[in-house]
Amino acid sequence: IRAVGKESLVELDRQYMWHPMMPYSASQQPMVVAHGEGPYITTEDGNRYLDAMSGLWCVNLGYSQKSLAEAASEQMLEMPYYPLTHTHKPGIRLAEKLNQWLQGSYRIVYSNSGSEANEVSFKIARQYYEQMGEPNRWKIIARYRGYHGNTMGALAATGQFQRKYKYEPLAPGFLHVPPPDCYRCPFGHQAGLCQHECANYYEQVINWEIPETVAAIIIEPVISGGGVFVPPPEYLQRVREICNRYGVLMIVDEVICGFGRSGQPFGHQNYGITPDIVTMAKGITSGYLPLSATAIRDELFDVFRHDSEYAHLRHVNTFGGHPVACAVAIKTLEIMEEEHLVDRAAQLGQQLKTKLTPLANHLHVGDLRHFGLLAGIELVADKETKAPASPEFTAAVIAECKKRGVLIGKNGDTVRNFNNILTLCPPFIITDDELDHIVTVVKESIAKTTEQGVTA
Ligand code: PMP
Repeated sequence: IRAVGKESLVELDRQYMWHPMMPYSASQQPMVVAHGEGPYITTEDGNRYLDAMSGLWCVNLGYSQKSLAEAASEQMLEMPYYPLTHTHKPGIRLAEKLNQWLQGSYRIVYSNSGSEANEVSFKIARQYYEQMGEPNRWKIIARYRGYHGNTMGALAATGQFQRKYKYEPLAPGFLHVPPPDCYRCPFGHQAGLCQHECANYYEQVINWEIPETVAAIIIEPVISGGGVFVPPPEYLQRVREICNRYGVLMIVDEVICGFGRSGQPFGHQNYGITPDIVTMAKGITSGYLPLSATAIRDELFDVFRHDSEYAHLRHVNTFGGHPVACAVAIKTLEIMEEEHLVDRAAQLGQQLKTKLTPLANHLHVGDLRHFGLLAGIELVADKETKAPASPEFTAAVIAECKKRGVLIGKNGDTVRNFNNILTLCPPFIITDDELDHIVTVVKESIAKTTEQGVTA
């Protein structure tokens, strides 16, 4: 490959690559990211940014953990690859460690992405009911606004229309219930003054569909990427009770909420529930290598604990549980344990919440939502009507933050023009000062965008 300067890299990118969720326009130049250090990234042209999104919600330990690179290199030299149709030490040791983090007894299946971990969970739920002699239980209930991945099943589970409508028909058998959106309650209630209709809705759908046809629900502890929708405290317990009542398995998607993001090892642990299946990815290696896992409660696994061919796991993949990725995951979890980073995430999350609170008074800030070190800022044109801020306003705030050296994210619903939720998901290794700086920049950027008269 030729040595090329920054300009030609962009040209080559334009010539050869197609990026997700990026407009194909000459005016929109992608950042050519060259270097990472702590929570900062530097581009080929020398701009440095504080990454308040941890890449894509995953680089929880920041960009310069040398010991992760060493763990990868040691494993690569020792035994670079073998499939998990047999077994290997990093895979076994990681499975043991995941059980400690899950605080329960689970059986682990590895794969390569959050999407695939969810696909595995759907297969296991259906295979479980096949084994139990209830083959008609194959429906899976998810939520509007939730995101569960990009593959035909995980996308079918996703409740964000803008991501799926170009690719339909997707996998059949997925249903959706309304999200616990306490700001725009789908049932018209005020936050805190409801009977948790959004949780009870599961029961109605299960009954309408006939319980004997429903295999599982899939749920994030908090809808994270979809806009940081934090449910009422009782919500997950209520959903767990409904699942128990109808024999429906509860799959908890911890792809973003897991590995400390919520201030607990896993997001669901904040709500005192035990999932039947847990899916995880992203933070498992702090984003350093692709790896995901699906954990099945040991008691459920009992039905597969025999040699009949029907009990075999049919989901085979080449790279799932790659030994190098497993070695990096073990090291990631060790670093978090040694440096008490789950507690640190909880502490930083509390600080973030306190510091963002005054923003609630801003003319265009409709709602502030938090879950550990994860925040959503919902921008509105009008606080009274809750009309969402325009995509131009939200984009201008993000551009202003970038100008000031801080990268933040956004989410919403581009089809209905609800693309108005700013997201913050910084790495756990940031200092108090860096956290202050992120908040200051976000506040200044919202103020500047308003002053400039961008139509909200
Ligand atoms: N589940 C959730 C909650 C996610 O946020 C994501 C990705 N953002 C996925 C699943 C899919 O993960 P991946 O992109 O690794 O396939």
